[in-house]
Amino acid sequence: MKWFLVAFCIIWVNCLDLEDNEDQLGDGIPELYDGDMLLTPEQKRILSLDGKDFWRVAYGHLVQRWPHNTVIYVFGAGSKHGLTKDEKNKVRAAMDYIESKTCVKYRPRQGQKDEDHVMIRRGSPGCWTNVGRGRYARLNLGEEKCFKHGAIVHELLHILGFAHTHQAPNRDDYIDINWGNVNKSAKNAFKKLPSEHWTMLGLPYDYDSVMHFSRKALSKNGEDTIVPQKKGVNIGFRQELSELDIKRINKYYNCPNV
Ligand SMILES: [Zn+2]
Repeated sequence: MKWFLVAFCIIWVNCLDLEDNEDQLGDGIPELYDGDMLLTPEQKRILSLDGKDFWRVAYGHLVQRWPHNTVIYVFGAGSKHGLTKDEKNKVRAAMDYIESKTCVKYRPRQGQKDEDHVMIRRGSPGCWTNVGRGRYARLNLGEEKCFKHGAIVHELLHILGFAHTHQAPNRDDYIDINWGNVNKSAKNAFKKLPSEHWTMLGLPYDYDSVMHFSRKALSKNGEDTIVPQKKGVNIGFRQELSELDIKRINKYYNCPNV
């Protein structure tokens, strides 16, 4: 659902594979939802149905889980799309971190048989990504800020199939949205998801999530756009997964001993 999406979030393929990918990926800034989420044509088609079925989509057939809990990746290459060694190390460190907390694994693409994979690259401004598994998914890390540990973890969770916390159907019990402070072009990023199409996976609202927007996210005037109802709570800018993030990933991917 176009209103749902947001606000916010490798390499040993042969050269021919990579060139094929680059041709299909193209350049420039794609149409994003919620600031950092890029939809496939099929996702857009479904979401254009007035938004219905999004979360069935998000947790169902459209935003698909990665088989065998394994995300397949390839790093972009060349002067335009390539990451430096240090940048690759930061991405791999974020992957290692998620692996250490969950049963999710990351492995490099091993050729054309790995049709579904995500290309992690530079190339366009901003930090953004597809949501869930896809044949030519992209994770664009186009600026230095994108290489902060928490920013990479955030985008990697989108690739796993997760969206932003502040749009949960029960969010009105936990946060207030100051609509008057929201950048006009970003209002869709703050719309609430319908309960019939959202699953909390049996877990409570999570102020501490790495997927939660900050107080002044997408503000037009520097004032708060999101205000926690609970006193003393900080939101956004997390560098680590919360305990509930870890549970959410492990539940969604049917990890053992959850
Ligand atoms: Zn995001």
